[in-house]
Amino acid sequence: MLLGELRQKLQEVRGIGPKTRTILHRGGIHHVADLLRHYPRGWEDRKTPMPLGAIPGGGTANTLIRVVGHDYFGWGPKKTLKIIIQDANDATPATLVCFNRNFLAEKLKPGTIHLLYGTFLYRFGELQSTAFETEPAGPARGTGFNTILPLYPLWGGLTMGVLRKVEESALNLFGRHVEEELPEPIRQKRGLLPFPRALSSIHFPSTLEEAAAAEKTLKYHELFLLQLTVGRRAWERRTVTRPARPVAGALVERLKDRLGFSLTLDQQTVLETIREEMASGRPMARLLQGDVGSGKTLVAFCAALLAIERGDQVAFMAPTEVLARQHGENAARYLEPLGIRLGFLTGSLKDKSRRYLLEALEAGEIDLVLGTHALFTEEVTFPSLGLAIVDEQHRFGVVQRSALRKKGQAPDLLLMTATPIPRTLTMTALGDLDVSTIKTMPPGRQPVETHLARQDNAAKVYQWVRRELDAGRQAYFVYPLIEESDKLNLENAEAAFRLLAEEVFQDRTAALLHSRIPEEEKRETMSRFTAGKIDILVATSVIEVGVDVPNATCMVIGNAERFGLSALHQLRGRVGRGSHRSACFLLYGPDLSEEGKARLKVMKEQSDGFIIAEEDLRIRGPGDLTGRLQSGFLPFRLADITRDFELLKAAREDAFALIEDDPGLLKPENQPLREVFQRTLPRPSAGGRLTRPPRTGILAP
Ligand code: ADP
Ligand code: MG
Repeated sequence: MLLGELRQKLQEVRGIGPKTRTILHRGGIHHVADLLRHYPRGWEDRKTPMPLGAIPGGGTANTLIRVVGHDYFGWGPKKTLKIIIQDANDATPATLVCFNRNFLAEKLKPGTIHLLYGTFLYRFGELQSTAFETEPAGPARGTGFNTILPLYPLWGGLTMGVLRKVEESALNLFGRHVEEELPEPIRQKRGLLPFPRALSSIHFPSTLEEAAAAEKTLKYHELFLLQLTVGRRAWERRTVTRPARPVAGALVERLKDRLGFSLTLDQQTVLETIREEMASGRPMARLLQGDVGSGKTLVAFCAALLAIERGDQVAFMAPTEVLARQHGENAARYLEPLGIRLGFLTGSLKDKSRRYLLEALEAGEIDLVLGTHALFTEEVTFPSLGLAIVDEQHRFGVVQRSALRKKGQAPDLLLMTATPIPRTLTMTALGDLDVSTIKTMPPGRQPVETHLARQDNAAKVYQWVRRELDAGRQAYFVYPLIEESDKLNLENAEAAFRLLAEEVFQDRTAALLHSRIPEEEKRETMSRFTAGKIDILVATSVIEVGVDVPNATCMVIGNAERFGLSALHQLRGRVGRGSHRSACFLLYGPDLSEEGKARLKVMKEQSDGFIIAEEDLRIRGPGDLTGRLQSGFLPFRLADITRDFELLKAAREDAFALIEDDPGLLKPENQPLREVFQRTLPRPSAGGRLTRPPRTGILAP
C-alpha cells in the first residue's frame, strides 16, 4: 500500500472514540492516511540532558531535579503552589509555579528526586516554569522521558497526549506496511530514508537528526510528486503534434520597416525563439518576462503577425479594460496599416456592436482580437485561433488561461509578465512553461531617480512637481485608497484630488482615475492625459500596468509603504519612458515599520525588477504571488518552495530525467508513483484503476 491508499476509517485505529473522531473529521482528517500525514510541527527533545545551569536566561530544561521545599502565593482557594527546586547535578535553583495544580504538592515532596522537562523563563530574579512535566527518578517507568516526542498542531479540544497515542497506534497498525514511493536509485542518490522509515521517524524519531532526515525525505517526496505532475504536463504538451508550418515573416519585416527604431538584441532573440516554436510541429507555451517598458508588447505584436501570416487568428488578452484599450490603440497604430483586421472585445461592448463583432470573428473576418477576459466567455468562437497572447498573465487564473487555449486547435500560447516571477514559481506552479526574459531596455530609457519622503514633507515634493509642470511635463499621483476609510488612516485619491486640483495646483488641469469611475470616463481621461491635455493624473493603482505616456516625468506615491514592491516597481515604470529625466517620490506615513523602511530602501536603491522581486521575497517571505499561486496549487504539507529551493531543484532534475528516460512511465498503468494521480491535481483522462504494483529501480541499467 502507498500512504495515500490507506483509506481505512479512523474507527479502525485504537484509541479513537467517537468524540476524538468528530474532532479529527472537523480538522479534515478522515482516513488513516490523513492522520499519518498530520505531521508534527516540531519535537520535544526529552533525551538530550539540559541542566538548569545551562539555561541561565531561560529555555527548555531536561534534567534531574531535587525538591527543596514548598511555598504559596495568593489567598484562599486561589492560592498557588510554588515548588522550590534545584538541579540535581549542578544545584542551580529554580521555581515551579503550579497554577491549578496544587495537587503536585503530594507528588513532588521535599527531598525527592524527579525527572523534569519544562520551559523556564528568567523572571523576578529566578528561573521559573509554569509549563513542566515531571516523573519520579529511577528506571524510566512512564512514556515521555528519555524519548523525543512529536508536537502536533492541535485544534478544538484535541490534546497532545491523545493525538500522540492515536498517531502511534495508526503507525503500528498501518504505517508499517506502507510501500516505498521513490525509485531506489533516486532515493540513494539523494541520501533519503526509505519511505516507511521516514514516515515513522517523523512522528517518533529516536534522535533529532533522524527527525531532520525524515523531514527532508518527506519534503522531497512532496516536491518530487509535484515535479512529476509538472513534467507530465510539459511532456503531454510536447506530444501534441501538428503539421509544421514555417512562416517567412514578411509581415514582421514590414512592421519593422515602419518602426522608427530597431528591435533590441533581447527582443530579436526572443522573437527568433518564438518564430521557431510557432513554425514547429508542437504548440508553444512560453512565458515572456521583461521589466516594465522593456518592449514585450512589440514582441507580442510580431508573434501575432507570424500567426496571421500563416493564416490564423490571434487573441490578445489584457487584465483590465484600460490596458486592453491601450493595446488596442497600439495595434491600430502599428498593425492596421499593414492590413490587419482588428477587433476589440471587452465587457462593456454591448448588444448590437457586440453581436456584430462576434459574428465577424466567427466568420474569420477578424485577424487579431484584443480585449479583456470577455474573450474567453463561451459565446466567443474562433474558427482558427492559432495564437493566444495573455498580458500580465499572473492576473489571470490558470483556468482562464486554459479556457482561452481550448478555443483553438492546440494554439500557441504566449504569456507576458512584467512582475518578475521568482524562480520558485516558474519551477512549480508555472513549471510547464518555457521562459524567455528580456533584460535590456530600449535605448534612451532614463533611470528613474527615486526619493523617499515623509508624508508631512509633501510640500517639497509639490515644488519639484511644479517645476516639472512648468517645463511642460506631466505627473502622476497615486494613493492606496479611493476614498476615506474609517478603518484605515491612509491617504485616498479623492481627498488628494481635491487638495491638488483645488489648492496646490489650482492653475493646472487635474483628473481623477480609479476603478469606480465609469469606463467611458476613464477612457476619456486617459486619452486626454496621453494627449497632454491633463497635467496631473490622480489615481489608485489602476494605472499600475501598461499606461505609456512618455511626457509624464513625475510619479508621487502616497503611503507607499502600503504597496507591494512589485506594485511600486510597476508604478514607477510609468515614468522614465521618454527622453526626459524622471523622478519617483515615495511618501510614507508616520508609522513606518523597520520592515517597511527596508522595503522602501530597496526601491530607492534598485531599478532592476528582478532584484526587487527577490529582495521582496527575502524581506517578506513568499509574498502575495507565491501565496495566491501556492494556495490550492501546491499540495504541500511540509515543503516550502522558498526555503526548500535546493531540494526543489533536485526533485525537478530527478523527475524530469525520469520522464525523459521513459515517458511511457507516465501512462497511468505504468505509474510508479500512483499517488500523483490521487492528488487534487487533474487526473489523466485515460485514468482508471491502477492495479500494477509500483515499479522501482527503473533507472537501473
Ligand atoms: P512592455 O510591454 O514590456 O511594458 P512596451 O512594449 O509597451 O513595453 O514598450 C514600451 C515603449 O517602448 C513603447 O512605447 C514601445 O513603442 C517602445 N519600444 C519598444 N521596443 C523598442 C525599441 N526596440 N526601441 C525603442 N523603443 C521601443
Ligand atoms: Mg506591457
